[in-house]
Amino acid sequence: MNPAKEKGYSVCGKCPGTTCFPRIAADEPLPPVAEAPTFCPMRRFPETIQKVQETYNQPDIREFARLASIQEAECYEATEDGMRTKFPRIEEIIQFSQKCNYTRIGVAFCLGLKEEMRMVSDILESKGLDVITVNCKVGGVPKESIGLAGKEKILGPDMMETMCNPIAQAAVLDAEGVDLAIMMGLCVGHDTLFLKTIQAPTTVLAVKDRVFGHNPLAACYLSKSPYYGRLRKKTERKGEGEKVTIPEKIIISA
Ligand code: SF4
Repeated sequence: MNPAKEKGYSVCGKCPGTTCFPRIAADEPLPPVAEAPTFCPMRRFPETIQKVQETYNQPDIREFARLASIQEAECYEATEDGMRTKFPRIEEIIQFSQKCNYTRIGVAFCLGLKEEMRMVSDILESKGLDVITVNCKVGGVPKESIGLAGKEKILGPDMMETMCNPIAQAAVLDAEGVDLAIMMGLCVGHDTLFLKTIQAPTTVLAVKDRVFGHNPLAACYLSKSPYYGRLRKKTERKGEGEKVTIPEKIIISA
């Protein structure tokens, strides 16, 4: 049984991708979309895919996408032994910034990654970039202001604990007029609010994983071993109450 087919949603993750990414010569005809599985988004949403393609005709989006794809290609090199990768992500970000002629780089970072922030600043500054950094505790607002009870804080009820403030991080970086914003180690959910607010083009250097040195895929790699087998153990879906929603885009009122 194919769960994707049964439930009726897009599932590229269960497809070999031979229709959208065929290994054929540049002058060969593309495979017909009808050959793709029924759960293929190209079959489920052909008009949407078509409209999206028209978006890339806007000159600024087209240029940004063009440079991003050049950057992508430059990260590989063909050798006698096969394809090799060349640049770690921090270099990729520097090179892409240079391609876009960006000079003011803003970083929204987690206070827990302060040491990493210093290293990243040194690296970016050594390439001639201005580095504007804003930590997650900016504003110094107690967690009680968003409704947390004392026992829901990390340090317990007796200590003042500052809330993470991703909306302020985004607002400050936009007020600073950064050309590119970089996210570094924001928590799950806090990163969501940052992305809902930030106006500047944004990329990610690191996502937070408190256990695996900010490499969340390490847990996935270990999920077939006894150590993290619990990740694959089938359990009931947890969830209660109404679905929580947030605005499509968070606009800071003047
Ligand atoms: S876009 Fe379609 S063909 Fe490509 S991986 Fe997804 S399901 Fe497969």
